[in-house]
Amino acid sequence: MPRKTRLAYGRIVLKISGEGLCRPGGFGLDADEIERLAREISRVHEARAQVAVVVGGGNLLRGATAARDARLPEATAHYMGMLATVINALALQEAIESFGVETRVMSSIAVAAVCEPFARRRCIAHLEKGRVVILAAGTGRPFVTTDTAAALAALEIGADALLKATKVDGVYSADPARNPKAKFYPHLSYDRAIADRLGVMDLTALEMCRQKHIPVIVFSLKKNGNIRKVVLGGKVGTIIDAR
Ligand code: UDP
Repeated sequence: MPRKTRLAYGRIVLKISGEGLCRPGGFGLDADEIERLAREISRVHEARAQVAVVVGGGNLLRGATAARDARLPEATAHYMGMLATVINALALQEAIESFGVETRVMSSIAVAAVCEPFARRRCIAHLEKGRVVILAAGTGRPFVTTDTAAALAALEIGADALLKATKVDGVYSADPARNPKAKFYPHLSYDRAIADRLGVMDLTALEMCRQKHIPVIVFSLKKNGNIRKVVLGGKVGTIIDAR
């Protein structure tokens, strides 16, 4: 599928945290939330953008917490976290396909029965054929997050932007849920976002995007039509770039 020039971003990496697949503040998988998310992704696909989704696993398991709670070696717990993202990827795949969109799950950890191994050129070929690619198992290595996996994926597949879907509608000077005076930033430079540690995404990920000039757009997942709007160049959320 050729990238369309009318799109602001023809090829995107969309980072969805595990919390995007469960009810707000909840745990596990929620059919309605997953369906809503899948519909949003199918609308971006309909706009003819190439979409690689990096899915998190925090709705099921976070390595650092599991290591503490279950007294596991931390590396093992992180691998468990990565496997949680595979579970989410499979749920999301079924939901996206129910909207008639072809998908592939590619994993950084071999889980041959249910997904393909990640291979850069193959991933790009899927995108060019109009398939939504769901990238599972993060980087395949412990001690990092799926934000870092998303930044790496964006670099690797030559994405035009990294879209980070969150609970809030962009980046604020403080947590808007706790501080009503928190200031909203429609635009931020990489330097400012990193120096002020505004909690956009993990700093390794942001630094990678800075070095390779990949714009990062942080926006709310909970508003219908938002992802498509970003791809079409609408003003949504906070854009972080070199300006
Ligand atoms: N994880 C990891 N390496 C990676 C990506 C993820 O070890 O490359 C583990 C880590 O333990 C993390 C868990 O998988 O806590 C779930 O990922 P993440 O916390 O990024 O999910 P999200 O917060 O986006 O739902």
